[in-house]
Amino acid sequence: MSARILVVDDQPLNVKLLEVKLSTEYYEVITATDGEGALATARAARPDLILLDVMMPGMDGFEVCRRLKADPALMHIPVVMVTALDGARDRVRGLEAGADDFITKPVNDVLLFARVRSLLRVKLTFDALRTRNHTSIQLGALDPDGAAADGGADARILVIEDNPPDRDLIAGVLSGEHSVTCISGAEATSTALADAGHDLVIVDLRLDDVSGLRVCSRLRSRDATRNVSLLMLVEESDLNLLAKGLEIGVNDYLVKPIDGNELIARARSQIRHARYQQRLRSAYERSISMAFTDSLTGLYNRRYLTAHLSVSLERLAGEEKSLAVAVIDLDHFKAINDAHGHATGDAVLRELGDLLRRSIRVSDLAARIGGEEFVIVMPAVQLSTTRSIITRLRAEIAATAFATSHVDGGVSMTASIGLAMANGPDDVAETLLARADGALYEAKRGGRNRIVAASRAGK
Ligand code: GH3
Ligand code: MG
Ligand code: MG
Ligand code: MG
Repeated sequence: MSARILVVDDQPLNVKLLEVKLSTEYYEVITATDGEGALATARAARPDLILLDVMMPGMDGFEVCRRLKADPALMHIPVVMVTALDGARDRVRGLEAGADDFITKPVNDVLLFARVRSLLRVKLTFDALRTRNHTSIQLGALDPDGAAADGGADARILVIEDNPPDRDLIAGVLSGEHSVTCISGAEATSTALADAGHDLVIVDLRLDDVSGLRVCSRLRSRDATRNVSLLMLVEESDLNLLAKGLEIGVNDYLVKPIDGNELIARARSQIRHARYQQRLRSAYERSISMAFTDSLTGLYNRRYLTAHLSVSLERLAGEEKSLAVAVIDLDHFKAINDAHGHATGDAVLRELGDLLRRSIRVSDLAARIGGEEFVIVMPAVQLSTTRSIITRLRAEIAATAFATSHVDGGVSMTASIGLAMANGPDDVAETLLARADGALYEAKRGGRNRIVAASRAGK
C-alpha cells in the first residue's frame, strides 16, 4: 500500500528517524518542523496520514490537530500523535482535538507499521466512498462535514469481556451516553453475534476460552458486522498481538488499565467514524438506485430496462422459454396536458405507474422509457398468456378515472400497446423493442386503444 505520509517534529533527528523507517517500507515521506509548516504542507501536499509531534515550540501538536480537523479539506486525513508524554490525560486531550491515535517515543516499529497500515486502509476506503459520493456531496444531498457535527453519543455498544471488574468499569463509564450490552467470550463465539446493529464492538484481546483476535476476525468476515467499528482492549505486553489485530481490521485499541475518559473519547471517535461511513454507504446506494429509476413514477428507467432485457435474453439462450415485451403509449396524451395542465398530466402518469406496478407479476418488470411511453417485460410466457394479461391491462386503463384529486370526476384516457415475443437466442434488446414499437405504430394507425402483436415471421 503506497501512501504519502507527513512527519512533523521540531527535532530534525526525530524527523530523520521516522523518515528512514517509513521509507524502507516504500512510503513517500514529506516533512515539517513546526505547526505552521505542518498545516501549509498538509494543504499543499494532501498527505494520506500525518505523524504529529506533540511538544513543539509555538503551535503545539494539539492545536495543529484541532486546525486540521476543523478544515473540511483536511479533516479526513488520519492523525497519529507521536509523543513523549504517556499520561491518559494527554491522550484524552489529543483525542478531543481529533487525533486518531498515539504512539509513544521511542517508537515501537511493529506497532507503528501496523497502525500506519490500518489507518491508511480505513482512509482509502473512505476516499473511495467519498469519490463515489462526489455528486451527492455537490448536490448537497450529503453533508461533507457531517462527521464533525456528530458528537458520537447515543450509540449501541457491544462489550465482549470475561473479566468482571473491567466489564463493570466499561459498562459504568459508557452507559452515561450509550446503550451498552455486555457478553462473554463464550457467548461471542456462539451464533448470531452482534447482528443487532451495533455501532461499536469492544473486544478484550484476552478472553477466557477464545482469542479476542479470533472474535475480531469473525466479526470482520460476517456481512452483518463487516463494517462495525472494533476497539480492542490490550495489555502493555500484548503489543505484537495488537499489531496482528490492526492487520485484521481492528480500528482502535486501548491499553489497560482502562482510563474512563480515554475510553469515552476513543468510543466517541470510533462511533463518529462508523456513522459517517454508514452515511456515505447509504448515500451511494441511493445514488445507484436513482440512476436506474424514473423519478416521476418510481418505475425503472430506459437505461435499466435495456440492461435488464439484455441479461434476460442471454439467459433465454438454450432454453425453451420465451419472453414478451409490451410497449404502451398513451393516446392523445398531449390533449390531457392541454385541457387540464401539466401537473394533472404528471398525476395521471404517476397513477398509471401505480396501476402497472399492481398489474404485473413479480417476475415481470415495468419501466417508463419516455414521456408517456411505458414498457413491460414478461419472461416465460406464451403469446396467448401475454395477450390476455395485456388485454386486461388495456381495459383497466380505459376504465380508470385518473387524477381525481386534480379534476372533478377524473381524467379518462386510453392506451395503444405493441407486443413482441423474443425470437430466440439471436434476439437482442434493440431488435425486440423495435418490433414492439412497429406493432405499436400499427395499433395507433388502426385507431388507437388497441393491442397489436408483431408477427414472429421474418426473423
Ligand atoms: P398519440 O396518441 O399519437 O400518442 O398522441 P400523444 O399526444 O400522446 O403523443 P405525442 O407524442 O404527440 O405527445 C406526447 C405528449 O406527452 C407531449 C407531452 O406534452 C406529453 N408529455 C411527455 N412527457 C410528459 C411528462 O413528463 N409530464 C406530462 N404532464 N406530460 C408529458
Ligand atoms: Mg517536539
Ligand atoms: Mg409517445
Ligand atoms: Mg401518446
